[in-house]
Amino acid sequence: MRAADRFALVTGGNRGIGLETCRQLAARGVNVILASRDPDRGAAAVEALAREGLTLVQCTLDVTRPEDIELALEFVRSTCGRLDVLVNNAGVYLDEQTSILDLSLTDFRLTMETNFYGPLSLCRAFAPLMRRQRYGRIVNVSSGYGALSEMGAGAPAYSISKAALNALTCVLADELRGGDIKVNAACPGWVHTDMGGPAAPRRDPGRPRPAGRAASRW
Ligand code: NAP
Repeated sequence: MRAADRFALVTGGNRGIGLETCRQLAARGVNVILASRDPDRGAAAVEALAREGLTLVQCTLDVTRPEDIELALEFVRSTCGRLDVLVNNAGVYLDEQTSILDLSLTDFRLTMETNFYGPLSLCRAFAPLMRRQRYGRIVNVSSGYGALSEMGAGAPAYSISKAALNALTCVLADELRGGDIKVNAACPGWVHTDMGGPAAPRRDPGRPRPAGRAASRW
């Protein structure tokens, strides 16, 4: 199948790694749905990419809202008829240098809702569609912080949410084995986005290159 016949949805597509993922997929000719929880921020991102000559469509999607996920599925069914690529990119990092004993349960739950239950719900919504069309690629944007081999103190909810995301990836990949559906998790490295901060050695193409460089923890 040609890239022009493929459809991709990227969560948190309005900035950072999500925006760059949208840009690169669209530049390869894939039809990209840029999902953003804030419609104005999503529209601004789509307009910025349009100025680069890239045409994308926008969808409002807060990954913690089941009703948004249902609407996104309906949007994909009615306007595209299929979904080839799901990039679970949206994420929050609320607990840098916080003790697991001090972090509020509110922040713990919000982190799990965004970084784990959101991707889980999106997989549950779109995997049946991928099964029916006998093709799909699910990419869960994870982090080295979620690797059990490197697990330690510092960002407890974030680390645990990404470990859970990695486990979800393994379980789902095994369940969908056999057809042409692949489920993977990837760590992008330490990237200079709003989340990664200015010390990150990997550049977000949307930002100027930082003057100094620091060793990566990712
Ligand atoms: P970012 O610049 O902070 O962007 C996060 C994106 O997620 C924004 O678009 C944000 O939307 C969206 N988002 C947050 N909560 C959401 C929700 N409930 N529903 C929908 N969208 C939501 O972060 P980033 O650096 O690009 O990170 C992207 C992914 O890479 C994350 O999963 C992160 O864990 C992972 N990662 C990043 C790094 C790094 O160094 N940057 C390293 C390892 C892994 P708003 O604009 O509306 O807030």
